[in-house]
Formats: sequence, structure tokens, C-alpha cells
Amino acid sequence: MEKSVIIIGGGLGGLTAACLLCKEGYRVTVLEKHYTAGGGLHTFRRGGMSYETGIHYISGFQPGGVLRKFYTYLGIFNRLKIKPLDPGAFDVICVKEDGSRYPVGVGKERFIEQWGRLFPAEKENIRHYVEDLYAMADRFYLCNMRFPDEDMPDLYQSEEIAVPVGEYIARYIGDERLRNLLAWNNALYAGNRETTPIYVHAIISRLFIEGASRFVGGSQQLADAMCGLIREYGGEVICGDGVKEIVAENREVKYVLTEKGRRYEAGMYISSLHPANTLEMIDPSQFTKAYRTRMSAMPNTYSAFVVFVRMKKNTFPYLNSNMYCTDRYAQIWEVGNYRPEEWPTGMMVMTPPESEGDEKYAEKVIINCLMNFDDVRAWENTRVGRRGETYEQFKKACEERVLQKFECYFPGARKNIESCFSATPLTIRDYTGSKDGALYGYAKNCQSMVQSHVSPLTKVRNLLLTGQNINLHGILGVPLNAMMTVAAMTGGIEPLIEKINRAE
Ligand SMILES: Cc1cc2nc3c(=O)[nH]c(=O)nc-3n(C[C@H](O)[C@H](O)[C@H](O)COP(=O)(O)OP(=O)(O)OC[C@H]3O[C@@H](n4cnc5c(N)ncnc54)[C@H](O)[C@@H]3O)c2cc1C
Repeated sequence: MEKSVIIIGGGLGGLTAACLLCKEGYRVTVLEKHYTAGGGLHTFRRGGMSYETGIHYISGFQPGGVLRKFYTYLGIFNRLKIKPLDPGAFDVICVKEDGSRYPVGVGKERFIEQWGRLFPAEKENIRHYVEDLYAMADRFYLCNMRFPDEDMPDLYQSEEIAVPVGEYIARYIGDERLRNLLAWNNALYAGNRETTPIYVHAIISRLFIEGASRFVGGSQQLADAMCGLIREYGGEVICGDGVKEIVAENREVKYVLTEKGRRYEAGMYISSLHPANTLEMIDPSQFTKAYRTRMSAMPNTYSAFVVFVRMKKNTFPYLNSNMYCTDRYAQIWEVGNYRPEEWPTGMMVMTPPESEGDEKYAEKVIINCLMNFDDVRAWENTRVGRRGETYEQFKKACEERVLQKFECYFPGARKNIESCFSATPLTIRDYTGSKDGALYGYAKNCQSMVQSHVSPLTKVRNLLLTGQNINLHGILGVPLNAMMTVAAMTGGIEPLIEKINRAE
């Protein structure tokens, strides 16, 4: 019994923890409420085309990259089809205000050179900024598969990392326009100029500057590869039956009950759901009121309105870059802080490749526009497919606004749209169970650093937490959180890091 574990939720967090534990000799059962595993990795099909729901943009898979090491250790790196984005312009910032386009290329030196050419008076400042940013990201030992040593202690305890990102950039850069431009990717971490701690920006910016890429044929392949691995080790991934109750006594989980009335027992239990959702499934007496209040009161990040577009054949170029479109420089920071009549003030346009041959034209385009849950709160008590006419009208109106703006950035594209459909924060909430459809879980806040970290351990002896809410989110953060959770069960992080490094 002790070497058996039940994992609630089969998204990136749950599946990664499951794979790590399989390799540690645990018998693993993953319980997933959706008809298939994946969560944010899920890729669905519509009209013969596949569309990614949550992970379109990845990094860390280039030679020497931290996720390449990680998935090599799991034995699945070679099963993944990954396409590097344009090294000269993996991201392009498009500004409507003056029609400018700014490429962002791979590599620190190219970054300095590209921005320095555009802002020559700031070149040395840019160099200092990016070098210090790299130095900070280097010191997060887990992000680099290292452990801290005396020369380079881990930074989590340091005040240095709690500086608000806007203030940090302004320490180096004088030009207001460049300050905004250097925050072009803040939507990747739901950034807020005054409250997001600099370490989040440092880790994510360095990750992508070092080698941005995409899945070819959708992110589901990573979920499928992990499910395959779990089954090879004798584990199970059971889909289509969500957990509805975690039954615990005297701070020990006895079993979990599913929607279909099945009962599963193991020695250990890990929930990869939002902690507030986990706590709703367990008798309140098992946790202190203070803990429960903290988990449900911590603010979440914003959500998104996503338009999935199918283009007519051979009309829209395949873009080997992510396009960050913004109306005005001053709005780069305001994507999640818009006036309703102005929405959307920005959008991220991507053309995920369906197959390896997609080099010239894109058949599908995904447009992500950030949206606050409040915009759909009127329908919060409704469920998929039964939200009513006013909701459908709202969705259509939002879609229309997005497509109008898409046409501004890509003139002539609209007439070549074959079909499109969209997802709102409610769609994201109901398909993944993320609180308020939050893209990245809890929001990080430099004024309350302790508040935005959640320990994988809980007061219930055999219940642990994992998933994006523990610490960082996304393709890098969630696997690292899974490592922390597994390390808490198996005797520390250092042996795990050593094994991963040995697998190279
Ligand atoms: C629109 C969008 C775009 C994004 N783009 C990117 C990107 O380009 N790059 C990137 O790195 N990150 C991106 N992210 C963030 C990334 O998707 C998440 O950080 C990551 O997928 C979170 O993984 P997780 O395992 O914590 O949660 P999830 O992937 O949400 O997994 C939770 C799982 O639990 C299941 N579940 C819920 N309730 C129950 C229950 N009661 N019983 C059993 N199972 C249950 C859900 O169905 C789901 O499968 C994006 C997110 C969104 C929403």
C-alpha cells in the first residue's frame, strides 16, 4: 500500500508526477475527469483539424535545455515532435500605434544586438539588464537542474527577487518605450508592472530567449507519451470519471470517491487541482480555517478569450514566430487591465503547425486575448452547451471584435477565414477545472511573497499537492513543481536532480 499513489487530475502536473513516481517504483493510478488526459496539454479535433487548448508555446527543448534533460530522463524526449521557432524572431511585437514590428531573436547576444540597434543610446543598459536577468535566472537551482552551493545560494529567500518587474526594468532602462517593449511577453505570466516579482519575468524571459519552440501536431503528444510511459510501468490512467470526494480521518486520506461512485485506495494521494478545489472535496475539519481561507482567497491570474480560426488553403502564411499585437506601447502592460469598451487592447497570434510539412501556409490560427473572469460572471452558474442566448451573443460580439483587430494587424486575412469558433474563461474553467478560468493559477505578488507559494505538503499526512498553483506555471514550472512534490515523498530533491542530469 505504501508504494501506491493515486493522482487526482491528469494534466501536465498530475502526469509528470505520475511518471516520476513510476520511475521511483510506485504503483500509480491517475484519475482524470475529462474523457482524455492532458488538461492544458489537451488537443481537440474539430472539422478535421486539431487545436491546442493550453500549451502552444514551449521552450527548454533545445540541446542542453532543461526540459530536454528532463524528458530524456523520463525516456520520452525522442517521442516528441518539436519545431524550433525562427531564431531571428521567435517573437514579433506588432504595435498598431505606429505600425512598427520588433523581432525578438534567440540568444542573449542577439537580444542585445537587436534591441541595441533600435535603441543605440540604451545599448549598454540593455546589456546590463539582460546579463543581470540571466544571472538571476541562473540562481534558481531547480530551473537549471542544479542544487544550491555556498557560492550560489538559492534565491527564493532573497529580497532581490521580490522587486516589482516594472521597477526592475526601469532601474536599467531610461527610454519609456523600450521599458514597455522589454515587457512584451508579460502575458505569458499574467504580469503586473507593480506587483509581479522580477524572478518570474527573469525565469520565463531567459527560458524563451534560450530557444523557443512549438509542438508539431499539438501538445497532446506530450500527454499521450506520459500516459504511455505510466502504462509501460504498470500504472493506470483512468479518464472520464472525476474525483468528487477525498475521504480522510484523523488527517489521513482513506480513499477517494469518483463521480461514477467508484472508490480508489492507495498509500499516498496527490491532487494536481487548484488547492481551493481540492479542499472543497475534503472534510473541512482536516485543515485549519486559516489554511482553507488562504487557499480560497489568494487572487488568481486572469483568463482569456481564445479564437480558433481555420483559414482557406494557401492564403495565410505560416508564421514561425508568435505575434504579440498591441494597440499602443503604453498598453503592453495593460492587457489584463482594460476598459471594457477598448477590449481587446492586445492579442497573441500563433500558427501551430499541423504537420512537419507546414512551412509556407498555415491552415489554422489561434488568437489569444486576455480576459478577466468578471466579463463572463453573469453566466458563472451555467455549464458547457447550456449557457443561453445572451452568452452566445456575447461570444459572437467578442469574436467580431477580435477578428476586426486581427484584420488591422494582418490586412486582407479576414476574407480568407473559412470558419472560426471561440472559447471564453468559462470554457477554460469548465474543461480544466481551473479556478475562474485562470490561465496560470495563483497570481504572484511581490508584496506578499510567502502568500504566492504553496507547499506540496499538507497537514493531511498522505495528501500532497502539485500542479501550476504550487509555484511557477506552464511548460517549465509545472514539471518542476511535480519534482518538488515527488521529492517530498521520495527523500529529497538532490537524488532526483542527479538522476535527471545523469540521463543526458
Ligand atoms: C488558454 C491557455 C493558454 C496557455 N498557453 C500556454 C503556453 O503557450 N505555454 C505554457 O507553457 N503554458 C501555457 N498555459 C499554461 C499551462 O496550460 C498550465 O500552466 C498547465 O497546463 C497547468 O497544468 P496543471 O497540471 O497544473 O493543470 P491542468 O493542465 O489544468 O490539469 C488539471 C487536470 O485535472 C483535471 N480535473 C479537474 N478536476 C478534476 C477532478 N475532480 N477529478 C479528476 N480530474 C480533475 C482536469 O480535467 C485537468 O486535466 C496556457 C493556459 C491556458 C488556459
